[in-house]
Amino acid sequence: MTVITHVEIFQLNVELLGPIRVAIGTVSHARNILVKIHASDGLAGLGEGSPLEFIVGESQASDFEIAKSLARLLIGQDPLALHERMDDLDRSLVGNPALKCAVDVALHDLVAKHAGLPLYALLGGGKREIHTCKTIGIDEPEIMARRAAEVKEGGFPALKVKVGVDWAEDVRRIRAIRQALGDGFPIRIDANQGWDPPEAVLAARALAPFDVEICEQPVAYWNYAGLKHVREHSPLPVMADESLFDHRDAFKLASMGACDLFNIKLAKSGGLRTAAKIDAVAQAAGIRCMVGCMAETRLGLGAAAHFVSAHPNVRFVDLDAAFFLAEDPVVGGMAYDGGRVILPDVHGHGADIDPGFLAGLESITIS
Ligand code: MG
Repeated sequence: MTVITHVEIFQLNVELLGPIRVAIGTVSHARNILVKIHASDGLAGLGEGSPLEFIVGESQASDFEIAKSLARLLIGQDPLALHERMDDLDRSLVGNPALKCAVDVALHDLVAKHAGLPLYALLGGGKREIHTCKTIGIDEPEIMARRAAEVKEGGFPALKVKVGVDWAEDVRRIRAIRQALGDGFPIRIDANQGWDPPEAVLAARALAPFDVEICEQPVAYWNYAGLKHVREHSPLPVMADESLFDHRDAFKLASMGACDLFNIKLAKSGGLRTAAKIDAVAQAAGIRCMVGCMAETRLGLGAAAHFVSAHPNVRFVDLDAAFFLAEDPVVGGMAYDGGRVILPDVHGHGADIDPGFLAGLESITIS
């Protein structure tokens, strides 16, 4: 039997080109967690988690500490029994989805390598044409309009715009952006919980003339009734993001009729296996999904892209974090051509971290 022999845990630090302002905080660097799981057959799987504290309540420091005890649960166990491994982790630790994502993706990578399959094939998918939108942070309307035009010129199929500070100002921002883009180019907005339900309804009604495709997480993550209120009174389709972590949240949101769309992120769901459960609930409820990201490198983004390729109910892709990083420490893996996402045909997700970069990271090995 193949068993897990040792687990390496790394603090994966990457600087951003510049800070990105969203309604509930500013992202100024990527402080991620990288897990490498080694098996007795000589294969190893890699996974990345991106713990944005104001969304998942974890930090790189807390993940690094807790990962040591999770790793000890894995040692000597069969990595191919992936659900048993993840059930063990879920029983021992509530929450911490970004850390669990790193472990889940590392296990999937390992199993795919063992099977001799690309990750998307292990997940039961073919190779789909994938195009990601690109996001711009909150700024002055004229600066945002200029950045929006750059996104369109850069070959992206859609623009995502961060809003949610002041709804009347947000309307001025979107007006300037629509003017810069012209008609027809898709604009999706993300308020990151920044409005209360009445403000969100006012904003959505004022924004409808600018042909906004999606209104993402208009109200606080805990306010399911508020989200439902917005959905019932908004002319724009409402997407749940911070309100949706796992399949149980998906079931509640769908049962309440609280939203039109789901935004799945591996760092919220705890990885690929629960992401698939969310998509199953979505399909049962007639809800279509986006797959989004936090501040992952191409390694974490690639795992999400393999998931997209295997899940046709995912209609919107927001896997753009790599464009905001000041350096790319990943070798192999997914590639971009403008907004087009290209997946490799090698075994697993295909991504590794440059050995020189890896050698400079704070790390620990559990065996
Ligand atoms: Mg969002």
